Amino acid sequence: MNLEKIAKILKEANQPEYRLEQIKKAVYKDSAISFAEITTFSKELREKIQKETRILSFEAEKILVSKDKDSIKALLKLSDGNYIESVIIFSKEENWTACLSCQVGCPLRCAFCATGQGGYQRNLSAEEITDQILFWKNYLKAKNYKLKAENNIKNIVFMGMGEPFLNWGEVRKSLENLIDPELFGFGSRGISISTSGIPEGIKKLVEEFPQINLAVSLHFADEEKRAKFMPINKKYNLRDLRNALREYFKESRRKVFIEYAMFKNLNDSAYDADSLAAYLKSIKDSYLLHVNLIPANATKNGFQPSDFQRIKKFQNLLLRHGVKATIRKSLGTDIQGACGQLVSKIKN
Ligand code: SAH
Ligand code: SF4
Repeated sequence: MNLEKIAKILKEANQPEYRLEQIKKAVYKDSAISFAEITTFSKELREKIQKETRILSFEAEKILVSKDKDSIKALLKLSDGNYIESVIIFSKEENWTACLSCQVGCPLRCAFCATGQGGYQRNLSAEEITDQILFWKNYLKAKNYKLKAENNIKNIVFMGMGEPFLNWGEVRKSLENLIDPELFGFGSRGISISTSGIPEGIKKLVEEFPQINLAVSLHFADEEKRAKFMPINKKYNLRDLRNALREYFKESRRKVFIEYAMFKNLNDSAYDADSLAAYLKSIKDSYLLHVNLIPANATKNGFQPSDFQRIKKFQNLLLRHGVKATIRKSLGTDIQGACGQLVSKIKN
């Protein structure tokens, strides 16, 4: 929602100041996504605003619900004809988590990631990022899905399409709005940013939002292998990333998550576990790191997940080295809504 634009329309229509507050309440607290739903003022005024602007900056074209009903993915058509995908995931412990996209595609082209392989079009605006939350809140309300708490989306992760630190200006604005008690009112601790490892971004995050969680998509602890599958490693290698994390821990004592997708016969051997442990332990304050082992999602390019026994063995090796590691379930694979599976139809 573009608040400045709405304020301007209201001013031109000689409306009292509290009108904007009514709209804010209806949208941020009561999850309205069309002006027609806001019945605290006249139909005439609603229609006037509706003619000039919309609450959402996109339209949902398709919504897919996983078999277990715990992952829901939406294909959203932006006003310029590009598409993004956005996901929400349910877990008993965390309630709903929204997985937001911040770019149309991704320029970093990791070999195993459907988003990266699909190409890149443009950055999303802060409005397009936060509108994903408005959309999902309204969806959950309309479907009355497992509504438990008033604010039913509890956590937000920037783990959809795109690299947040390549769109920091708009991502920063979106974070400010998400934690603003007058607007969305989320707690910083419930928000996580995932990066493929861009040092300046890590620095800005800890300086500007020290309470927001950081996750680093590491996946390989060997320079050559990482550069082969994650081209960003040619620009910022593992040594740069180690320095960035050391700097991070000088500023913050918050736990950092290391994402490690497990690919069959690629990064899942005992040797890989030893190298990972050695790398992580070479970062000062490595006890603040927590490894998430994620069975990789199969992709068209032939990447396959490691089998469970191998992941378990890998975890045990890490634990023996004193590295904290948890095996995560991959949710939403049947709707292509899991990590690295989101795609955009890019407008030509
Ligand atoms: N660009 C950021 C944010 C996207 S998060 C980043 O890469 O961190 C998407 C997550 O899914 C990242 O951790 C990414 O590495 C992971 N991912 C991509 N393809 C995957 C696949 N095939 N299997 C498992 N995880 C994958
Ligand atoms: Fe981009 Fe992240 Fe996918 Fe790599 S894994 S291509 S950085 S979205």
